[in-house]
Amino acid sequence: MKDYLDVVGRIFDIQKYSIHDGPGIRTIVFLKGCPLRCKWCCNPEGQKFDIQNMEFGGKNKIVGKDVTVREVMTEVMKDKNYYFRSGGGLTLSGGECLAQPDFGEALLIAAKNIGISTAIETTGFAKWEYIERYLKCTDHILMDIKNIDNDKHQRFCGQSNSVILENARRIAKVHNDLTIRVPVIPTFNDTESEIRSIAEFTKNLKTVKKLHLLPYHRLGADKYKGLGREYLLSELELIPNEKMQRLKNIVEEVGLECQIGG
Ligand code: SF4
Repeated sequence: MKDYLDVVGRIFDIQKYSIHDGPGIRTIVFLKGCPLRCKWCCNPEGQKFDIQNMEFGGKNKIVGKDVTVREVMTEVMKDKNYYFRSGGGLTLSGGECLAQPDFGEALLIAAKNIGISTAIETTGFAKWEYIERYLKCTDHILMDIKNIDNDKHQRFCGQSNSVILENARRIAKVHNDLTIRVPVIPTFNDTESEIRSIAEFTKNLKTVKKLHLLPYHRLGADKYKGLGREYLLSELELIPNEKMQRLKNIVEEVGLECQIGG
C-alpha cells in the first residue's frame, strides 16, 4: 500500500505566519481547484484544477504545482516551534481543500501524527464521505456560509447552497469546533436581514458559538486580468466600518460570538 506521505496533490501556494486562518500562528497550504465560482473570489488562480499561467506584477507566473505530502510537510515542519508556542499549526485552504480528498486527508493525518494542530477552511460543497474523512483528523473547521437565499447563492457563487447548508448541519452534530465565516459582499449579502438569516441558521446548529464577518475587499482583483478574465465586481464600494459594526451587533443579538475579520 502506498505510504500516505507519497500521496501527490496540486497546490498553488504555501503561506507562512498567518494569524487569520485558525488559532495561533499557522502555515496555510492552498490546494488548487474549487467547484464554486464566487464573483468576489480573491484567489481566482485557485479555482481551476489545471496548472495555469498568470501575469502578475509584470511577470509571468506558473500557478499550480504537484507535490507530495512529504514535501509539503517538510516545509510545514520548519515552523513547528511557532505552532507549539502559539497554539497554531497547519491550515488547509484553497480553492476548496475538500476537492482533493486523498491528498487533503493525507496532509491532515501527517500533521496529526507529529502532533501538529490541524484546521481546514472550506466552503463545505463536497460529498459527505469526503468531509467525514477530514473530520477525523481536523481540530478546527472554518466554514463559509455565504447566503441562505439559494437563488442568490446560485447566481453569485455558481452553485446551489443546499449541499452546503446540509453539510453544515451534519458537521455541527459530530464536531465540536466549527466556526462559521461570512464574506460580507455588497449587493450579495450585506443587508441586516441577510446577515440575520445566516446568524439564525448558525444559532440553530446548536453547537456552533462563533461567527466571523469578513468584509469585502478587492485584493485579488488584479489577478483576474493576469488570468485573462474580467473582474465582475469592480463597481462595488468597500463596506464602511460603522456598517460592519451594525452587522456584528445583529449577530451578537442572535446569541453568537462575533468578530470582524478572520
Ligand atoms: S469558494 Fe472560495 S475559493 Fe472557491 S470560488 Fe468561492 S471564494 Fe473562491
